[in-house]
Amino acid sequence: MTKYEIAALPGDGIGPECMDATCIVLDRLVSKTAGLELTITPHRAGAELYRESGETLPASVLESCLQADAVLLSAIGLPDVRYPDGTEVQPTMMVGLRRALDVHSAIRPVKLYPGAPCALKDTGPGIDFIVIRENLEGLFASFGGGAKVGDEVATDTLVVTRKGTTRVSDFAFRLAQRRSGRPRDGKKMVTCVDKANVFRSMAFFREVFMDVSKNYPDIERNAVYVDAMSLYMVQNPWDFDVLVMENQFGDILSDLGAGLVGGLGLGPSAEIGEKHGLFQPSHGTAPQLAGKNVANPMATILSAAMMLDWLGDQHNDPVCTDAAVRLENAVAAVLKEGQIRTPDIGGSASTTEVAQAIADAIASP
Ligand code: ATP
Ligand code: MG
Repeated sequence: MTKYEIAALPGDGIGPECMDATCIVLDRLVSKTAGLELTITPHRAGAELYRESGETLPASVLESCLQADAVLLSAIGLPDVRYPDGTEVQPTMMVGLRRALDVHSAIRPVKLYPGAPCALKDTGPGIDFIVIRENLEGLFASFGGGAKVGDEVATDTLVVTRKGTTRVSDFAFRLAQRRSGRPRDGKKMVTCVDKANVFRSMAFFREVFMDVSKNYPDIERNAVYVDAMSLYMVQNPWDFDVLVMENQFGDILSDLGAGLVGGLGLGPSAEIGEKHGLFQPSHGTAPQLAGKNVANPMATILSAAMMLDWLGDQHNDPVCTDAAVRLENAVAAVLKEGQIRTPDIGGSASTTEVAQAIADAIASP
C-alpha cells in the first residue's frame, strides 16, 4: 500500500468548485483501487485570502506544498484583487511557487478526445502531442525586473541558460521515450521550437537542445521556428509528438493547443522539477462563472490524472500508474458518450453532474 500526501490549493473563482469535483472523482478512484491511498489536504491561498489577510501564499502553506508528495492547484487570482502597485496577485504568487518548488518543465498535453469539440474540420489521423515549456527562465526570468527608461521605453530581458535548457530538453526526450509517438506514423520525435534565426538567446537554446539530443539516438529530433510552428499546429498537428520551447513561446503555443482540442475547460497541465510536481488546469478563475456550478471540471480532473501518472513513475508504483490511466479513460468515456457535459463544450450539465458521471465511469483495475 502506497500512501500519497497531496497538498490541494482550491484558490479563487471557479477553482473551489473544480477542486470539489476532482475530490469526488478521486474518492471514487481510491475506493475502487486496492493499494492506493491519497490524503488530500486543502490549504487556502490566492486572491480571496489576500483580500482578507494581506497574504497570498502563507509560509505555512508553502511549507506544506514542499512537504507533500504532490501539489494540486485549481485556479488562483481575481482581476479586482491587486497589490498596492496595481498588479494582479496571481503572477507573483505563481512565479514564487514555481521558483520555490523548482519546477523547471511544464507539460501541456494537446490531445483530442473523441467527442470533444475540435476547432479543425479535418482531424487527420488524430491530434496527440505535448507542449513542454521551460518554466523558470526565458522571458519570464524578467518577472519582477524589467526596466522603464524615462517615459518612452521599457525593456525586459530574456534569459536562456545552459543548465535550464539542458534539463528541459532532457525532460522532453525522456517523456518522448514513455510515449507512443506522433499520430501520423508512430515515430518518436522531439521538436525544438525557437527563433534561432533572429535571437542569440534562441540560437543558444537550439544549440544546447541539439547537444542533448545526441544522448537519445533512437528518437528523431528537429527544430522549427515558432512562427512556422503556429501554422503547423493548425495545418498538420498530427505530425508532432513532443515540442520543447522557451517559457513565453510555451505560454502562447499551449493556449493555441488548448483551443485546438476543445478549449480551456479540457486543458490539464503538469509542472515538474527534480523533487516536486505541481498540477493544475490551464484555465484561470473565470470569475463570471464562479459559484454557479457550471464550470467544466475536466481540466482539473485530467490534471489529477497527470499527477497520479507522475507519482506512479516517481515511486515506481504500477497501481498508481494504472489508476491514472483509468481516471483519464473515465473522462474520455464521458466525453465520448456526450450526454453529460458543461455549457463550455455544448452541454447543459452542472460541474457536480459531470464529476458524478466521471466517478461512475471509472473502471475497476
Ligand atoms: P488567467 O489570467 O488566470 O490565465 P484568463 O483570464 O486568461 O485566466 P480564464 O479565467 O481561464 O482566462 O477564462 C477565460 C474564459 O474561458 C472564462 O471567462 C470562461 O468563459 C472560459 N473558461 C475557462 N475555464 C473554464 C472552465 N473550467 N469551464 C468553463 N469555462 C471556462
Ligand atoms: Mg483571468
